[in-house]
Amino acid sequence: MENVMIIGSGPAGLTAALYAARANLNPLVITGQDLGGQIATTTEVENFPGFPEALTGPQLTELMQKQAERFGARIEFDSITSVDLARQPFRLVGNNAEYEAKSLIVATGASPRKLGVPGEKDLTGRGVSYCATCDGFFFRGKELMIVGGGDSALQEGLFLTKFASKVQIVHRRDSLRAGPALQERARKNEKMSFIWNTVISEVQGDKAVKAVRLKNVRTGEESVKPVDGVFVYVGHIPNTAIFKGQLEMDEEGYLSVDSKLHTNIPGVFAAGEAHDRWFRQAIVSAGYGCMAAMETEKYLASLE
Ligand code: FAD
Ligand code: NAP
Repeated sequence: MENVMIIGSGPAGLTAALYAARANLNPLVITGQDLGGQIATTTEVENFPGFPEALTGPQLTELMQKQAERFGARIEFDSITSVDLARQPFRLVGNNAEYEAKSLIVATGASPRKLGVPGEKDLTGRGVSYCATCDGFFFRGKELMIVGGGDSALQEGLFLTKFASKVQIVHRRDSLRAGPALQERARKNEKMSFIWNTVISEVQGDKAVKAVRLKNVRTGEESVKPVDGVFVYVGHIPNTAIFKGQLEMDEEGYLSVDSKLHTNIPGVFAAGEAHDRWFRQAIVSAGYGCMAAMETEKYLASLE
């Protein structure tokens, strides 16, 4: 029987683990498929306080993990597939084991949204990617298309200019959502260009991506452009499906919490992008992880 289980090992989960461990709660973190979460997929983190020279996402993850483990947090490589929150202790079923816990911090974050166009699924891993850090290296000297107009599209697009000969950003509007600093860097980069008011309606290729079909959303005009790879950065969806019917959530799946991160079930707290659709920054998720751990400590004390 665990005191507190933390589902997820992104900035929210690992910070919750640090605080829970320092409170002597002996937390167990279930990593999920992606140790470190989304931040572990990025190349350069420039805005996490305390690291003025920037560091990579995997470096930040390693440091967070080490810090939590130093105080006794245990890290288990497993993914939770179902939960029973109707009775105490809560029961969790993972791929590798079953668990029981008195309290739970849900830090399952979010996963990349897919375009949902023909060819995308079949060519994933063969030219379609959601992770520049993981796959950029394979596109040395190649021509790439990035979908999206947010910070991720620009930051990862800039990273990809280190490998690719040409990086084109396809955005469905004619102005970017990304912050001004990234916009300026992208506009100054000679390898980068923009295709405005346009979406990808099909990814073409057999063994590898060969081209994309583009559609101008204003004129309806369609064209086919040869490319070697497509990187998709069109936002995220919360990883909360396993809690459906048990934890309250909105229509998009973001968990409902009060100002102290309590869910509708006493003893179950949420932290990070599983409930936060607005801020979506590593430091914010880390802050939520801290809050959730502090509330968990109070909850466990109240049981005694
Ligand atoms: P996530 O990072 O999404 O972590 C979720 C965790 O839950 C993962 O470990 C996953 O494996 C686990 N999980 C999910 N389902 C299960 C399950 N069923 N069982 C067990 N575990 C599960 N933010 C910044 O501040 N600065 C940046 O420079 C920056 N760059 C970014 C670049 C990219 C490409 C992206 C995509 C995001 C970037 N962000 C950046 C945003 C930042 O990464 C997120 O805000 C942050 O990672 C969210 O943390 P989280 O812990 O809430 O969730
Ligand atoms: P985001 O901010 O939600 O941007 C998603 C982009 O994709 C938007 O431009 C959106 O267009 C577009 N889009 C959405 N659905 C689409 C579809 N079906 N087809 C085509 N385009 C579509 O997501 P993000 O860029 O991944 O950023 C997520 C969070 O992480 C943000 O809070 C961001 O600030 C943070 N982050 C920060 C940094 C950094 O600080 N350096 C780096 C990366 C990410 P519209 O603009 O028209 O809605």
